[in-house]
Amino acid sequence: MKYFSTRDKNLNLDFKEIFLRGLAPDGGLFLPKVVKRYSTSELVNLKKLNYQDLAYEIISNFCSDDLKPKLTNIIKKSYSNFFDKNVVTLKQLDHLNFLELYHGPTLAFKDYAMQVIGNIYEEYLSNSDQKITIVVATSGDTGAAAIYALANKKNINLFVLHPENKVSPVQRKFMTTVNAKNIFNLAIKGNFDDCQSMVKKMFMDEKFRKAVNLSAVNSINWGRIVCQIVYYFYAFLRMDEDKISFAVPTGNFGDIYAGYMAKKMGLPIDKLIIATNENDILHRVATTGKYEPKGVKPSISPSMDIQVSSNFERLIFDLVGEDAEVVAKLMKDLSNNGSFTINKDQLDKLKKDFLSCRVEEKETLSIIEKVKEDYNFIIDPHTATATKYSLDNINSKVIVLCTAHPFKFKDTIENKLGIKINTPPQAKNLMDKAENFDTLDLNLQQIIKYILDKTQ
Ligand SMILES: *Cc1c(COP(=O)(O)O)cnc(C)c1O
Repeated sequence: MKYFSTRDKNLNLDFKEIFLRGLAPDGGLFLPKVVKRYSTSELVNLKKLNYQDLAYEIISNFCSDDLKPKLTNIIKKSYSNFFDKNVVTLKQLDHLNFLELYHGPTLAFKDYAMQVIGNIYEEYLSNSDQKITIVVATSGDTGAAAIYALANKKNINLFVLHPENKVSPVQRKFMTTVNAKNIFNLAIKGNFDDCQSMVKKMFMDEKFRKAVNLSAVNSINWGRIVCQIVYYFYAFLRMDEDKISFAVPTGNFGDIYAGYMAKKMGLPIDKLIIATNENDILHRVATTGKYEPKGVKPSISPSMDIQVSSNFERLIFDLVGEDAEVVAKLMKDLSNNGSFTINKDQLDKLKKDFLSCRVEEKETLSIIEKVKEDYNFIIDPHTATATKYSLDNINSKVIVLCTAHPFKFKDTIENKLGIKINTPPQAKNLMDKAENFDTLDLNLQQIIKYILDKTQ
């Protein structure tokens, strides 16, 4: 399988190259040249597969031939760390359908892709003399998932940038209590978008990128999208429906884009519902066509406190008729004028596949309360934003993606609602462990110096 960039269709790179690079050299995102489409009868045949075998089936469509023989083991090893023997659970409570994606080691859906990615890195690097540096910006959950996936892996150093005081205490503890020589946690004085922008600038710094052999595991990494396609298939195949919608708590547009890919691959998805908190850039663009980042407002669903939604560029590529020059121009508009606008035809195209909703803090809390009272089920604040659509549309068939375990936002749920949350086995003793991280200013040169010092 060969890949090109959303800003340059002439690129022709193989899976290993795009996997290790993350971001395309022109600043665009990688896309595959061919997308396999499953027929209805092929889909029926997939019903009998367990999660691991289905993951092999889906992921092998996108990787290179040399990785395929290793893939079965990589997948098996990755999901052996999960606390649910089926890997994911589809919980049906009346007309509500919840896909629990928090049974991995760090209690959020990020583990589903990150564990596999960690083992692919190991496959590519363990027998080479190549050393790489991974830098990742996190709004709370990516960092922990990356740390658990990469701790003590050979030839890899991982630097995790989180916004200081803007992640939940449980989220921070998951990141800062892992004791491994190749893991470095940095609290940055800024918000998530600032951290993400630092990482993007590091990739643009050719000298630095080469000096440390920089690689990315943010949701722009195509490998993550591919692994996330799997659970859309898995959930659909376990429902007895001809067509189904998915409601997805959304920030960087990675998870929901995986759902869009699943639809392109033939999965009969009706609508993908973009759920946001008050940081609503995606809701605004999906209703007005104007993509315009505004200031980030901290919320009780911090993993969605994002205003620069990187993976949206992959959707734009389709909306503008797969014209890389138009994508490059829109991205230039964004950096020059602070916004871009898609035209009416492009917006109509978007609306064929997507709906959106924006949920304010007060309503998020009341949704958590209602689901607990009516269904005796506790959801986290991210999941609550997507649950709104299900509660408001009781006659449509919707699966809500539960992106994090409520324990990760224990303080919010317990303090504001008085709902007590049991500690899952993944978090046993977590709160008593010593933390290890350094705090740095939002200053690119200082962060670069820190990374150089630790890696040379
Ligand atoms: C990362 C995250 C999201 C947002 O996912 P994207 O792929 O960035 O859209 C939503 N909820 C939780 C709990 C997350 O960790």
